[in-house]
Amino acid sequence: MSELRDLDLGARPAQGHPRLASRPSLSYHRGTWLAPRREAAAGTGDEEKAVAIEVRGLSKKYGAFQAVDGVSFEVQAGQLVALLGPSGSGKSTILRTIAGLETADSGSVMLTGEDATALPVQQRGVGFVFQHYALFRHMTVRDNIGFGLKIRKVPKDEIRRRVDELLDLIQLGGYANRYPSQLSGGQRQRVALARALAPRPKVLLLDEPFGALDAKVRDELRTWLRRLHDEVHVTSLFVTHDQREAFEVSDQIVVLADGKVQQIGPPQALYERPANPFVAGFLGAINVLPLRSLKAGSIGRGPETWLDQPPADHAEAYVRPHDLDVFAERDGKPYWPARVERITPLGSVVRLDLRIAPDHPLHIELPRNRSLGVGFAPGDEVYVSPRHLNVYDRAQNSFQPVDVHRAMGLALQEGAGI
Ligand code: ADP
Ligand code: MG
Repeated sequence: MSELRDLDLGARPAQGHPRLASRPSLSYHRGTWLAPRREAAAGTGDEEKAVAIEVRGLSKKYGAFQAVDGVSFEVQAGQLVALLGPSGSGKSTILRTIAGLETADSGSVMLTGEDATALPVQQRGVGFVFQHYALFRHMTVRDNIGFGLKIRKVPKDEIRRRVDELLDLIQLGGYANRYPSQLSGGQRQRVALARALAPRPKVLLLDEPFGALDAKVRDELRTWLRRLHDEVHVTSLFVTHDQREAFEVSDQIVVLADGKVQQIGPPQALYERPANPFVAGFLGAINVLPLRSLKAGSIGRGPETWLDQPPADHAEAYVRPHDLDVFAERDGKPYWPARVERITPLGSVVRLDLRIAPDHPLHIELPRNRSLGVGFAPGDEVYVSPRHLNVYDRAQNSFQPVDVHRAMGLALQEGAGI
């Protein structure tokens, strides 16, 4: 059974690129999914702005260990937000606290405007999907999906209708009578999602839902989840430790480390303008190069505040591997000299490991075509120029994106002068 075929969106209306689709047509499920909220918001223009999840000052200790430390963030109604951080950063604790499965030591949780801090799980209106398949093994797909409705004593024919709708939504129409053991991992997670959606939760909480699946199926399910969310628009908080996953699925990312929020913003904004060294490094490979003070007279006064206060020995340049160009000749330009140590083809890109004098490694990624044209070999002396970089000023603990022409007026430490 091909996962890919299973994931084909077939009869769905075309959506275009998920991020570009403004408010996708909801005709496919109109009236079933969103009518109540859309009606409530009709004409007010508040629909986009309503806050569905509001976490304020959440803290939680396990014994003496501070697992969550003063965490605050909001999720707008209808958004899909990723809670991204390394293992142990407190993601699951936060999610479980929002669900009511865990009690925080302090702080509050508001769900669609109501204080839910003291509400029991059953009254919070949250749907939950975990990493490990929590399907009931002895129940068919149909009974799994309908379970939450059955315990709420929803009439049988209504359950049947709702389950059929959801089977359609997760593209498992023909699988109603199968048991979980007769499904692939990806299919099981789709059933888990349908089961969570069945009682029409106010918010959907997903804790590494694709974590146990292999890379290709994960990839497909991400795309599928994003498209499903564009149709269903249920407010969703998605926990992951995988930055690529967070980038692919979410409208906003909350980056966590050591139980604290590091930065909140749209994926690309975090990537291009990280708030601190942790975020810069966690969101993708990055080179960190120490800088020495500005070269006298080489730079005019610019709008960046740090340029008015040269960072002296406390500054570092943060440059992404794909934000660097390599040249064989200096041509009198202020490039950084480097030596090629290793060239590794990685499919669509080629990775160059360079050493920038005397002893800082520098990693560059060039599109495969460009690197073929350049034809470098290990041992070559080359010249490097960043197109974009961020300067981190240790003394002020601040990051500043820098215009490249100004940046090249900076000199690397330890004599790698320009
Ligand atoms: P994440 O989901 O980001 O991996 P968790 O929220 O699961 O992080 O855990 C955060 C920290 O709290 C971890 O160091 C973890 O070991 C600890 N922790 C989580 N749950 C418990 C528990 N029930 N008892 C003791 N420590 C816990
Ligand atoms: Mg976790």
